[in-house]
Amino acid sequence: METFSEHYASLEAALNKYMPDTDRSLIDRAVEYAREKHKEQKRKDGSPYIIHPLAVAEIVAEMGLDTDAVLGALLHDCIEDTDASFDDIARQFGTTTAELVEGVTKLTRANFSSSEEQQMENLRKMFMAMSKDIRVVLIKIADRLHNMRTMQYQSPAKQISKCRETMDIYAPLAHRLGMQKMKWELEDIALRYLDPAGYDDIMSYLRAHKEQDEAFMQTIQEKITLRLTDMGIHSTTYGRIKHVYSIYRKMAQQDKRMDELYDIYAFRVVVDTIPDCYNVLGHIHDLFNLVPGRFKDYISTPKPNMYQSLHTTVIGTQGIPFEVQIRTWQMHETAEYGIAAHWKYKQGNVGGNEKDFEWVRRLLESQQDTDAEDYVNSLKIDMFDDEVFVFTPKGKIVSLPAGSTPIDFAYAIHSGVGNSLTGAKVNNRIVNIDTALENGDIVEIITSKSAKGPSRDWLNICKSNQARTKIKQWFKKERREENITHGKASFESEMRRLLLPLPGSMEEALEQTLLRKLAFDSWDDLYAAIGYGGLTATKAVGRIRDDITKAVKAQNQEKANQNPLRTPAEPVKKDRHAVNGVIVEDIDSCMIKFAKCCTPVPGDAIIGFITKGFGVSIHRVDCPNTIGAHDPQQAARWVRVRWDQVEEQPFDTTLELDCITRDGLLLDLAMVMTTARVRVKELSGKDLPDGHSVFTVRFEVRNVTELESIRNKLLNIRDVLGSRRGQN
Ligand code: MN
Repeated sequence: METFSEHYASLEAALNKYMPDTDRSLIDRAVEYAREKHKEQKRKDGSPYIIHPLAVAEIVAEMGLDTDAVLGALLHDCIEDTDASFDDIARQFGTTTAELVEGVTKLTRANFSSSEEQQMENLRKMFMAMSKDIRVVLIKIADRLHNMRTMQYQSPAKQISKCRETMDIYAPLAHRLGMQKMKWELEDIALRYLDPAGYDDIMSYLRAHKEQDEAFMQTIQEKITLRLTDMGIHSTTYGRIKHVYSIYRKMAQQDKRMDELYDIYAFRVVVDTIPDCYNVLGHIHDLFNLVPGRFKDYISTPKPNMYQSLHTTVIGTQGIPFEVQIRTWQMHETAEYGIAAHWKYKQGNVGGNEKDFEWVRRLLESQQDTDAEDYVNSLKIDMFDDEVFVFTPKGKIVSLPAGSTPIDFAYAIHSGVGNSLTGAKVNNRIVNIDTALENGDIVEIITSKSAKGPSRDWLNICKSNQARTKIKQWFKKERREENITHGKASFESEMRRLLLPLPGSMEEALEQTLLRKLAFDSWDDLYAAIGYGGLTATKAVGRIRDDITKAVKAQNQEKANQNPLRTPAEPVKKDRHAVNGVIVEDIDSCMIKFAKCCTPVPGDAIIGFITKGFGVSIHRVDCPNTIGAHDPQQAARWVRVRWDQVEEQPFDTTLELDCITRDGLLLDLAMVMTTARVRVKELSGKDLPDGHSVFTVRFEVRNVTELESIRNKLLNIRDVLGSRRGQN
């Protein structure tokens, strides 16, 4: 079992290598702090938990990172796994350290392994973007490396998921950050669990050929060293077998067996200066046969991850090809530790953080890549200033424009979530809905069925077009008052165009029937639907038109039947003599004529006017010309008259019909009149500009009952909307 003191000692050793003179008291305090906080916890292998942070700190120290990063590594699990708080760590070890720990905690909480393939690219971007400070990523990679090294204690399921995640996220990241050494180790351990058989095949082949390989490498190394020493070039040369996963990948890509693969050997020549690099290259090409097309100059054109070296592939005396990489010590450092090496060189002039960040940004932004093969798994990472990546409580990643709020998040999930949003939690704490989200935040939207929907302010708060569009849509749909006004106007205009009575002027029962037919609960609902464009006024009116027409006709008939006379007829006075069927009260045997203006027929309520020299003129009481009856000066000339009940002679009367213009309507009218055996004196029509026509029909009837019966027959004709008694 691993012990605390072993690990503490090797951390000391790693620190002594590059910061021998630095005050170690803060680091020692962090070791004690973490040890105390984790004291109840054990690793899966039963060793004390503190071993893990110590080992992670050691890896971070091997990268040569600064004190803050070492502190961050030591405390990296404190916020997540113990009662330690950000504030407590900030107070004791400084804000920078606390922020590093918090950053690592966020990455730890992010559930990368549950993500789907297509989210991978987003995840990598997010991973980078989440870490304002690149050291967070470096600590996290160190954390993962130590967890990979101790993977044997995990359950098989966890091994697979963690190794998958390592292949998908951590190894490509390490590569992108130029940390070859870590990348290789991560890949090799992951492969061991993901394809144990494939891994074992390669390992056993390598074991079986170990002596042979070593002898070969020894020969080549000596040959190179001898030549360079002869030429007075200060250099270190060593050979190695490429790492297992790169061999594995080559086999898969080239569909070759292990013994068919060439190029599994790599030699490094590390020198002091760049001119030495080119100098060495010349000697290598002189010593061995060059394999054409394999030379690459990454010194004049560094890789995006800042890697620099000369690469060439040559064939040795035994016909075995091998690669030679030539670089300076500084290039070597960058190749091994990548971005981390940068800290090594910057050690001492801390505070240039802004500039460091620029360097990282440039590195990450440069997408030029000349070596496709090496970049099979390469990443396209930007710092994504314009994007923020957050999580749903279930771990789904959501990408939003920078500065987005819980409102944007809610609408990104679903417009229904946005519309019923009442509040939000970020990282389990209630926040204002205008809070700007940060990378890695876990966002939970609080919704309510009784939510009133988005507020107009949200349009100013939200950052995403998606949210804005959806909120606008909602207002379009839900801005009820405006929609009602708008919808009502177009509905009523359509009704008027068709000369239909407007809602509110029809009988309650009829209106209810119409609403049922339209499938709305109220006229306002109908108007709102028309207002937002869910239904056109034409369509709505078309659906109820026939019902209204029919009902109005029925009503008219009923009215006519119930109340044919506005003034009940006086009891017949038999002693009065009727002239032309009309009895004039108080006046006997006077001349009677029927007013042309209103053509009264028996049954109509009538009134008489004593004309100057033409006897009594009979009007309907509803004739506009009877207005004079109310004039006190003329009142004496108006006399009460009534129909003689026995009179059966025909009278002329006129109806005006409001109709929708159509061919054949005149014919229909004529047919009805003929069928009813009515004597038509005049039938004419006039088209109005709005698609309507007015027909005037003058005909003979014996009484008002007959008139109403004919009127109803006319109203039953299709497209006849209404009728009026004629007023000449
Ligand atoms: Mn950890």
